Amino acid sequence: MIHDYYQFNTVIVGSGAAGLNAADQLYNLGQRDIAIVTEGWQMGTSRNTGSDKQTYYKLSLAGAEKDSVHDLAETLFSGGAMDGDIALVEAALSARCFYNLVRLGVPFPHNQWGEYVGYKTDHDPFARATSAGPLTSKYMVEKLEEEIYAKEIPILDGYQVIAILVDEGRQCSVGLLALNLNELEDPQKRYTLISCTNIVYATGGPAGLYSRSVYPLSQTGGTGVPLEAGVLGKNLTEWQYGIASRKFRWNLSGTYQQVLPRYVSIDENGREEEFLNEYFPDPGTMLNAVFLKGYQWPFDPRKIEDYGSSLIDILVYYENINKKRRVFLDFTRNPTWEGQELDFSWLGEEAFTYLERSGALFGTPIERLEHMNPPAIQLYKDNGIDLYNELLEIAVCAQHNNGGLVGNIWWESNLRHFFPVGEVNGTHGIWRPGGSALNSGQVGGLRAAQFIAARYGRSPLDRDTLWNTAGRQIEEKVQFVEELVHNIEGESNLQAMRQVVNELMDQVGAHIRSLPAVESAIAEVEMYLRHFVSLSRLAGLQELGFALKNYDIFITALTYLNAIRDYIEKGGGSRGSYLIYHEEGVLPLPNLPEMFRYRKAEGFLSDQIQLIQYRDYECATSWEPVRPIPEDDNWFETVWAQYRNDEIIR
Ligand SMILES: Cc1cc2nc3c(=O)[nH]c(=O)nc-3n(C[C@H](O)[C@H](O)[C@H](O)COP(=O)(O)OP(=O)(O)OC[C@H]3O[C@@H](n4cnc5c(N)ncnc54)[C@H](O)[C@@H]3O)c2cc1C
Repeated sequence: MIHDYYQFNTVIVGSGAAGLNAADQLYNLGQRDIAIVTEGWQMGTSRNTGSDKQTYYKLSLAGAEKDSVHDLAETLFSGGAMDGDIALVEAALSARCFYNLVRLGVPFPHNQWGEYVGYKTDHDPFARATSAGPLTSKYMVEKLEEEIYAKEIPILDGYQVIAILVDEGRQCSVGLLALNLNELEDPQKRYTLISCTNIVYATGGPAGLYSRSVYPLSQTGGTGVPLEAGVLGKNLTEWQYGIASRKFRWNLSGTYQQVLPRYVSIDENGREEEFLNEYFPDPGTMLNAVFLKGYQWPFDPRKIEDYGSSLIDILVYYENINKKRRVFLDFTRNPTWEGQELDFSWLGEEAFTYLERSGALFGTPIERLEHMNPPAIQLYKDNGIDLYNELLEIAVCAQHNNGGLVGNIWWESNLRHFFPVGEVNGTHGIWRPGGSALNSGQVGGLRAAQFIAARYGRSPLDRDTLWNTAGRQIEEKVQFVEELVHNIEGESNLQAMRQVVNELMDQVGAHIRSLPAVESAIAEVEMYLRHFVSLSRLAGLQELGFALKNYDIFITALTYLNAIRDYIEKGGGSRGSYLIYHEEGVLPLPNLPEMFRYRKAEGFLSDQIQLIQYRDYECATSWEPVRPIPEDDNWFETVWAQYRNDEIIR
């Protein structure tokens, strides 16, 4: 039935920074019976994204300021709803993983004395952050890729994983089924079966959930496939959302805000309005909020009151989603107030001093941007947008999933032999320092590789045994796909179906959430999932991958929405990067509608972690206390003895 069959000790799924590092580390640790399976070598967030100064967070490695593994673990842990043992591992291996990237040639800057100097990022008490520029993660991928090529690690490019195969007790992964996107026309070659002892799953964040998204278009994620196989979700409620441009997806942080652009919305009749003006008492307060958005980029409910910078994200959502207006940043003209153009004397001290010291108390926003950060203009030019002459369409967009699939201190999930690494793994909690995502992805890949190399070296099941174990799962999945093949007729509705779910997620599952809205979205997504085959219309075989991606996204959406519902029902308040409607809460402003009434979580549930299991359209949740940061006296003789006796990797 399935022509193409492979077997390996370990398959790494995904070719982003996390997956490539895991493959390289496995090879270095001696496990060479491996292959990388990816839906697209050039796809994914790491390779295709960046930001003003894309940050890598690590232990301080410069200067006189004191830092320690424990202090870094404390910082990671203090974000709330994060396991202390994982925080400790991420801290302990931060320097090793960072220096590995340095050795590979990622151009992280150092000074004359070899110190890797750092700067402060958000939620960072020290100057631990570093950057190789706007494209740090791209450089990481490119340098790791050179290692993969040099080591001749096999790559299956254009293979979309559609099922994780499990043993009879659903305890352990035993292989996977992929759609060969290069051979969809050929029924003999459409499917590829792989038997493998271990899977390192590095499919990135579930970006395909949202249409208002700053993830690159090529990244949609693959979280639904393991959820379907019984892998638990962890902290799925926790994300980061912020203001980004839509046509070319890019975070509008830093100078883009500090030059004080005009925020305008345009209604269906083309009527333009500087919509912020209505909500602020005076122009100085308004421009201060815009200015602060520059370095308070993610939406944060703690930064709403007193006309804080996160009020802007609420107002953009209100224009966009409720009033159905398109929202833009205008760099060509200065903001106005009651008919009068920007007067720098309106500004508060912080914004005024910043612009004064930058020599930018003049001109229009684009002139100030040209003076302070010309590459920021060039970047848009390179992507077909002329900030000198056009408005830049924006929205509050999903940027990063702090939660994800569950993993232990070796990144192994509840499904044995299945290791989610990188963004697909929910290592982070409520708040995290900027840049810790890239660190976590590298540490996770190394840890999974260490465990596999030490403990899981055995051969995979042979083809017959795999078939005896998982034949039914394979047949069911193939039948499901073939039923979709029967739905090939005329016009496709796959994009429209995805759009419906995406818009639901934008409206109710992003930074503005409420129980009734989430409940009704759950009912709708569940309907789409239950009737998935009969509802889907494909224009041709080449759409099979897209259809299966829809299925993945819908399972993911249902599970994430259920996680949100459970969190709200448990009394969870506004935290992280989202606002939860609460009838006894406060309204950010009296002239905003009731739906924005909220109450901050104030630490409630931040010592708990939510776990969720998907099965057959139903989700079951549970809560566990966070595991503390392990305390150990680290007596050298003891650890050395344990190390020699092979008691560490367990
Ligand atoms: C705009 C933006 C700015 C960011 N800035 C920072 C920052 O400054 N600092 C920081 O630490 N983090 C930042 N992040 C987050 C960080 O970039 C990502 O978390 C990280 O790059 C994810 O790497 P990854 O290897 O886990 O996944 P990705 O790089 O997304 O790779 C996923 C891979 O899996 C493949 N794949 C997916 N599904 C399947 C499937 N079913 N079958 C086969 N293959 C599949 C994809 O094609 C891709 O190759 C930013 C993110 C964005 C969007």
